[in-house]
Amino acid sequence: MDKFDVVVVGAGAAGLCCAAELVLGGRRPLLICEAGEVGHTFRSVWMDERNRGSVQVPAWQSSWGGGWWMPLVRRLDLPVRFREFRPMEMQVIGTAQVVPLPYMASASAIANTFADLSSGTLSAAHRELIVSCLRAGLALPPDEVFALDRVRFSEWLRSHGATAEVAAMLTGFCGTPNGMTEQDAVHHLSAACALWTLRIMFMHEGTLCEVVPDPCEGLWIPIAKEVERRGGTVWRGCRVARVHVENRRAQGVELVDGTKIHANVVALATSNARLGRLFDRQPDEVREVLNYTGPTAQRQLVVFVLLNRPLLERPVSLSLNWPHGRRLGAVVDAHHTDVEPGKQLIHLVVTNIGDRAEDDVLREVDAGLNLVFPHYAESVEKVKTIIHTSEHWMDYTTVGPKLPRRSPSVTDLWYVGQGAGPVRGFWTEAAAGAGVLGARAIMGAAG
Ligand SMILES: Cc1cc2nc3c(=O)[nH]c(=O)nc-3n(C[C@H](O)[C@H](O)[C@H](O)COP(=O)(O)OP(=O)(O)OC[C@H]3O[C@@H](n4cnc5c(N)ncnc54)[C@H](O)[C@@H]3O)c2cc1C
Repeated sequence: MDKFDVVVVGAGAAGLCCAAELVLGGRRPLLICEAGEVGHTFRSVWMDERNRGSVQVPAWQSSWGGGWWMPLVRRLDLPVRFREFRPMEMQVIGTAQVVPLPYMASASAIANTFADLSSGTLSAAHRELIVSCLRAGLALPPDEVFALDRVRFSEWLRSHGATAEVAAMLTGFCGTPNGMTEQDAVHHLSAACALWTLRIMFMHEGTLCEVVPDPCEGLWIPIAKEVERRGGTVWRGCRVARVHVENRRAQGVELVDGTKIHANVVALATSNARLGRLFDRQPDEVREVLNYTGPTAQRQLVVFVLLNRPLLERPVSLSLNWPHGRRLGAVVDAHHTDVEPGKQLIHLVVTNIGDRAEDDVLREVDAGLNLVFPHYAESVEKVKTIIHTSEHWMDYTTVGPKLPRRSPSVTDLWYVGQGAGPVRGFWTEAAAGAGVLGARAIMGAAG
């Protein structure tokens, strides 16, 4: 039977960063990856052999102490290269007008953007309230922002003098990039996530990176290879069936094929909702997180449309307001890494599709894009979709309970994936931070 210092389960951003930090600290972890290759969530979708779009752009907290994955890449000295994601633009459905979203440096700059987006209907009183609430949020140092992870943004705004209307406006604006409906955002969006979103995405305190050629090939696979080169082990194509716990102490894990792996420490970097299945008897802290009734499971449809001609003169990122309150985030030709000259790729995420059939949603998407882009219908060459249930995606953006890094009920069991608190970032940074900090805590505890 194999024996390792630490077995890390799950080779997403968190597991990879955890394993890399462990090898940097002289440990020899085993990283278990259930897919054929690491970083599966960050893969590209190939439309044909020449055109592909990538599923996501990793966020990086450039001015919040540099964040997590970037400093790790530097210490590993990996040749990771990226382009900065283009600034956002917004388009109101049914109009041809694209409203640029330049980066905003202050609360009044944000209020001016709201005025632009509302085509001059924002009242002076609302503008003033937006400025006074946001000034308070923008003045907070990062640590104090992260500490608001269990405070509802809507309530935080009200406690800073916002009316219900202004609170709904700001909550909706910050909830959209996190895939939340307006209603979910009012009830569940945390103040930490909302302020982080504003400051990192819209105020340039962070960056969204288009890693070359995509985050999987350009960032996560090189990290895995470096882990192996430095004495760690990566097993690909292996799924963990259960964590082996005896006398309230984690002893290792068992794979679905029955292989038993013994380890001094078990570090879980899987997404939250799947954690529950890994235990014969769930630890209390896992049960508490899984019992939370917030919007932790949400079906999304990710759509890639290859067009045989560019529909926009320049590549832009679009966020479209869908009729009847349905939100449709659209990014046009911005996530692409390889698109032939003369073509364009549309990448869309339709959030909250519930149990609706994929074809139904696609018909709606088609109708919406036909409204926005003249000649859309005759320009479509190929469509590919991914249905994604974002169980873990929401947990750190919401006010829901977080997992502790170290299990209080099972010795030598650690939670090092996104959603383990205290939270030190959002999106990819949440995962990378949880992985790096988890590894440091494990090594610190071992002495
Ligand atoms: C569609 C989509 C778009 C996104 N876009 C962005 C974006 O543009 N920018 C950004 O910064 N973030 C984005 N995110 C969020 C980002 O993907 C997450 O923050 C990040 O991937 C979380 O990393 P993680 O390692 O905690 O979890 P995951 O990436 O989910 O990794 C967990 C891993 O554990 C594995 N696993 C689970 N159970 C087992 C088991 N039993 N045995 C072995 N392995 C197991 C899974 O296969 C998976 O690889 C997006 C997420 C989604 C779903």
